[in-house]
Amino acid sequence: MISVNENYSKLQASYLFSEIAKRVKAYQTAHPEAAVIRLGIGDVTLPLAPACREAMHKAVDELGEEATFRGYGPEQGYDFLREAIAVNDYQSRGCDIKASEIFVSDGSKCDCANIQELFADELRIAIPDPVYPVYVDTNVMAGRTGAAADGRYQGLCYLESTAANNFVPAPPAEAVDLIYLCFPNNPTGAVATKEQLKAWVDYAKANKALILFDAAYEAFIRDPEIPHSIYEIEGAKDVAIEFRSFSKKAGFTGVRCAFTVVPEGLKAYTKAGEEVALHAMWNRRHTTKFNGVSYPVQRAAEAVYSAEGARQTTEQVDYYLGNAKLIREGVKALGFDCVGGDNSPYVWVNVKGDSWEFFDRLLNEAQVVTTPGAGFGRCGQGYIRISAFNNREKVIEAMGRIAKALAN
Ligand SMILES: *Cc1c(COP(=O)(O)O)cnc(C)c1O
Repeated sequence: MISVNENYSKLQASYLFSEIAKRVKAYQTAHPEAAVIRLGIGDVTLPLAPACREAMHKAVDELGEEATFRGYGPEQGYDFLREAIAVNDYQSRGCDIKASEIFVSDGSKCDCANIQELFADELRIAIPDPVYPVYVDTNVMAGRTGAAADGRYQGLCYLESTAANNFVPAPPAEAVDLIYLCFPNNPTGAVATKEQLKAWVDYAKANKALILFDAAYEAFIRDPEIPHSIYEIEGAKDVAIEFRSFSKKAGFTGVRCAFTVVPEGLKAYTKAGEEVALHAMWNRRHTTKFNGVSYPVQRAAEAVYSAEGARQTTEQVDYYLGNAKLIREGVKALGFDCVGGDNSPYVWVNVKGDSWEFFDRLLNEAQVVTTPGAGFGRCGQGYIRISAFNNREKVIEAMGRIAKALAN
């Protein structure tokens, strides 16, 4: 008899995006003439930068010639890309990360989801609330939690991110083994300072714990005091894995390219307390289960680090940040507290009431779609996330409509 992994039955259906789609569709059916503006999406809208497109075209042409054709590449990524990442994203910021410590993949979602395979079944896991759902759900699937009760899985240590801690949770009093952190954060848009990250690194050292640091929105950081990488913190190389993606940095959500940094000295432990190198384990896993990102895509990613590519992709991020500023200033002018939007494409707004009610109000009265914070976790109740991924005219129009609707 073929039995199933019953942990899957513990998963709570995520109603968030399907429920949003349902409500928007119902509204549009009732008001076919309404021009709905979507500020709910976590996906980029600007077209691929010319430098990336040119690099991709050139690579495709190479594949069309016998002399320059390439078949399977190295599973970990081509040296040209791993080198460009190590130099530009790390060494230029004083982080001692080598090309051999970079694992190129087709997405941070997969990497964040797959990394937990390296660890034992019995782990105490700390996960922020609100949060990107991948971290929790993959551990539920792996059987590392109990059943859900009141929207929370038993056995997890939830790190509450609220106005009281400026949406950056401090390490818990109890000892945990595995810690998920994401800064700049999705959904709150909050960023962590060096001191705040240092507290986590020190905690991980003291508890022989591991930090999984998701830096998908690193490119949106403009404040020079905010670290772009966990490895800017002394000692982090001994206790942290970092995930980065070209999705939000260079508009690669449809192109697919990301990478994970696993330092060669990073250790975890057997039950008997012997040290095991995580770099060798991840290398084994990656080469067994993954066959590399396509050559044209890796050339396009490499082009992000060329002078032209860097200028063009920075301009795109600046464009979204310009939208975020309009959103942030707009909601503040209406008397709402918010966080994010300065080093992040997301603005997290305290709506002084129920998330879904406010969502409905904006949909019905301003024809603007946002994301109810309650969908990201218990601590998201009372908030909405407004995304800056859209074009400027629509953002301006949306903020004008919101102001008008809320004045009524
Ligand atoms: C968008 C996003 C990613 C990137 O995912 P990809 O699979 O690389 O597109 C990772 N983490 C968070 C929190 C995100 O919002």
